[in-house]
Amino acid sequence: MDKPYRLYSAWLKQRFGGRVHKISVDAGFSCPNRGARLNRGCIFCGEHGSGSFGIARSLDVAGQLEHGKEVMVRKYKARWFIAYFQPFSNTWAPLEELRRHYDAALGVTDVVGLAIGTRPDCVDDAVADLLAEYHRRTYLWLELGVQSCHDATLRRLRRGHDYACFLTAYAAAKRRGLRVCAHIIIGLPGESRRDILATADEMARLRVDGIKIHLLHVLRGTELGEMYQRGEFKLLERNEYVELAADVIERLHPDTLIQRLTGDGPRDLLLAPRWSLKKWEILNAIEGELHRRGTRQGSSCRY
Ligand code: SF4
Repeated sequence: MDKPYRLYSAWLKQRFGGRVHKISVDAGFSCPNRGARLNRGCIFCGEHGSGSFGIARSLDVAGQLEHGKEVMVRKYKARWFIAYFQPFSNTWAPLEELRRHYDAALGVTDVVGLAIGTRPDCVDDAVADLLAEYHRRTYLWLELGVQSCHDATLRRLRRGHDYACFLTAYAAAKRRGLRVCAHIIIGLPGESRRDILATADEMARLRVDGIKIHLLHVLRGTELGEMYQRGEFKLLERNEYVELAADVIERLHPDTLIQRLTGDGPRDLLLAPRWSLKKWEILNAIEGELHRRGTRQGSSCRY
C-alpha cells in the first residue's frame, strides 16, 4: 500500500539506486550547553549526548565507519553509507578540526554523504560557509535540534537557546542552499496538543527539507528521569502518541522528507515509555491511523 507520508529511506534508495544507510559516528565533540558548572545541558540529555547508541567509540572516525559498514552490510545488505555525526554538537570546534573529521569520513570507501547534527547556536556564518563547501562536494544534511517552537518549553528543557536562534541558523543554512533536517519532540513536559501542532505548522511554514519526529524518551541518569520518578509530568500513552504523530504528519508540507517517526532509546537506560521499544508496531500504527482517517502528509498543511 502507498505510504501516506514521504519516507526518506525510500527516497534515498531511489536517488542512489541502492540501499543507503546512515552510520553514527562520534568524533569526540562536546556541547556548549554542557560541562560548565551552571550549564547542565538539556534535561533529557544522557551521558553520551542525545541519541547515538552502539557507536564503537574506541575507534577514530574512519574506524567507526568501517566497523559500522561491516554491520550494515551484514544486517541490511547496505550498498552506500552516510556518515552521521550524531552525538553532542558536531559543528562546535575550530573549523580546521571540523574539516579534519568530515574529510576523514569522506575518505572511507562507499561513504557518499554526511549528516551533521548540531544545535542552532553552533551554526554561525563561518560554520555555514564551511558546510556550504561540503554541500558542493558531497551529499550533505545539516540536522538541527529544534524540539519545539515555544520558548517556554525550550526554557523548561534548559536548551540554552530560543526559537529565534533556530530561525537565524536555519536562514543562514538556506541562504547557502543547504538541506536542513529539523528535529522535533512530541510529548514534552508542559506541552498541549495545540503547542505540538503549532511546532508542526512552523516546520510546514519553513518547508524544511527533512524532519525527525521523536517521541520523548526518559533515560536513567538524566534530570528528566528524576522528574519522571518524582511524578512531575505525565508521559503519552501509545495511542496518544500515534494520534499526535498522525496529526503532525498531516500538518507538514508534502515535500518534507520524514526521516524518523519515533525514538530509539537504549533498552538498558530507558526508564519510559517502555512501549516505545516496539518500534515497528508504532510505525505501523501511525501508518494505519493515517489510512483509517483517509489522510496523508500535507492533508492539513496551511502553507
Ligand atoms: S544540545 Fe544535545 S548534547 Fe547538548 S545538552 Fe542538549 S541534548 Fe545534550
